[in-house]
Amino acid sequence: MPDPPTPRVQVRRLPERASYDRDLINSILDEALICHVAFVHDGTPVAIPTIHARVGDTLYFHGSPASRMLRGMRSGEAISVNVTLLDGLVIARAAFHNSMNYRSVVLFGEPRIVEDPDEKWRALEAVTEHVLPGRWADSRPMTEKEMKGTLVAAVTIDEASAKVRSGGPGDDAADYELPIWAGVIPLELRPDDPITDPRQTVDAPPPPYVGEYRRP
Ligand SMILES: Cc1cc2nc3c(=O)[nH]c(=O)nc-3n(C[C@H](O)[C@H](O)[C@H](O)COP(=O)(O)OP(=O)(O)OC[C@H]3O[C@@H](n4cnc5c(N)ncnc54)[C@H](O)[C@@H]3O)c2cc1C
Repeated sequence: MPDPPTPRVQVRRLPERASYDRDLINSILDEALICHVAFVHDGTPVAIPTIHARVGDTLYFHGSPASRMLRGMRSGEAISVNVTLLDGLVIARAAFHNSMNYRSVVLFGEPRIVEDPDEKWRALEAVTEHVLPGRWADSRPMTEKEMKGTLVAAVTIDEASAKVRSGGPGDDAADYELPIWAGVIPLELRPDDPITDPRQTVDAPPPPYVGEYRRP
């Protein structure tokens, strides 16, 4: 059984699905387009979906300085972050054994606001590149005003767990004789054809990284 870095990230149920391997954790964080950030505000737990980007051991978030989530990160109080990649629906013979195939990460950390302009710039580049690799270099660069109007927060990835389920259903032995279909419906996030902005008046075809977009 793998050892968790802290008790807080110890997966309890089905621990054989747990991993604390940093490469696996990083790959899940990188493949997921969004995460959910959980924090406590005025005694109320809140989970907010948002974009993230990883640079080495740091996970970055960005947004409006008015965002409650980002303002809250100024306090440095602990947050929890979750990302989940859904790989399939696992359909068992018994409703009780229905499940899902997934790769998920839960991490805890004390966030900080990124004040250093260079780090902030690199974080915003990372967020843009995380969503659409190749886009930062092609984008109109951020202005001073836009930089000031964006808050960037960071959390170190040192307390994290991954949980992975793969494979088919696990029915009770006797149920395999039942005349009921069982199996997996694979799921993946796939792009459709890009739709050019109707307000685009110049002749600018979609760059290759748009046409060839896929995750990861
Ligand atoms: C798509 C999906 C669907 C799920 N559906 C269900 C469901 O219907 N019912 C259900 O009970 N469980 C479901 N799970 C599993 C669920 O996420 C928990 O793993 C489960 O509730 C067991 O939690 P626990 O009480 O053992 O651990 P907890 O005490 O809740 O967690 C302890 C620590 O384990 C780690 N951990 C727990 N779960 C995960 C995870 N999924 N990924 C990474 N780290 C984790 C965290 O670090 C956490 O702090 C689902 C998971 C996914 C990804």
